Amino acid sequence: MNLTPIFEAAIPEMSRRQSATLGDRTSYIGSSDVAGCPRKVYLQKQYPVLPQVSTLLKFARGHAAEWLLEKIFTAAGAVYDTQVEISHPKLPLRCHIDFLFYQPDGLHVVEVKSVSGIPDAPYPQWEDQLQYQLGMLRLQYPKGDISGSVLAVDLNAGEVHQFSGYRPDEETFQYLFSKALHLLDALNGMVEADPCPSLLCGLCSYRGDCPAMAMPVVPLPAEVEMVARKYAELNQTKAAAEKELKSLRQELIDYTGGSFRGRCGELDLSVSTVQPSPSVDAALLKQLFPDVYTQVLKPRYGYQRLEVRRSARQELATAA
Ligand code: SF4
Repeated sequence: MNLTPIFEAAIPEMSRRQSATLGDRTSYIGSSDVAGCPRKVYLQKQYPVLPQVSTLLKFARGHAAEWLLEKIFTAAGAVYDTQVEISHPKLPLRCHIDFLFYQPDGLHVVEVKSVSGIPDAPYPQWEDQLQYQLGMLRLQYPKGDISGSVLAVDLNAGEVHQFSGYRPDEETFQYLFSKALHLLDALNGMVEADPCPSLLCGLCSYRGDCPAMAMPVVPLPAEVEMVARKYAELNQTKAAAEKELKSLRQELIDYTGGSFRGRCGELDLSVSTVQPSPSVDAALLKQLFPDVYTQVLKPRYGYQRLEVRRSARQELATAA
């Protein structure tokens, strides 16, 4: 039985049904829109394209994580709602809160992020998304305690990490609110949506003609261009090798468990476990004890950053 046609037909349909709970996302500005690049969000809303099946499958991983967490929170007897929609009283601005906990001392918002590998610190987009939700919730409930956290879930590794300590921050909310208004203006044809470059530009489908990505043309000596080309090629090979290494590593550890030493043919295989240890949450320290934070800062040595890759225009031309 060939399952490929089933995947190709069913995954887009499943994704459409799951997204239906969020309403027509082209008709309002949501929290993930506000946290993202305005130009990219504008183009996604104006010219929506269905992502590839592989991307939709990755999105489904997020829904799977939320489904699992729902079972866990229910088993724990927690009092909460899921996918809570908060709407602005006058403007087409909304947000959907993954989990809203009702605690004796107030409300707690949880934004879930499904990841492959838990980062050391939350990404700024995650924090912006959460801050926007906290701000919208504050508009709805002007009184009472409101807090929030980002829950990063790595289903492959079976790891969960809560980045906590967030409270509504009026200054951040006003900044995000102005971004939302800018997007509304862009969608109403009053201004052009601003590009906002970030690490995610590498994954952006609208990179090819993005003004923020425009580079001045500088002719290089032939030998320097050759070295740059070689560097870009090796870097691409390295990225592919690292991706494969990560999945092979997981397969091996799934077999050996956290502790193993053994020789197999010409290979010595050894696995050990580094126990979890406490570390300082710099973002929380800065938020709770700003004076202490400035006292413990130390200078970081600078270095030269080199980035060489095929231009987005070149990639588009090759793909065409
Ligand atoms: S390339 Fe970066 S700055 Fe340009 S639209 Fe995409 S995300 Fe925005």
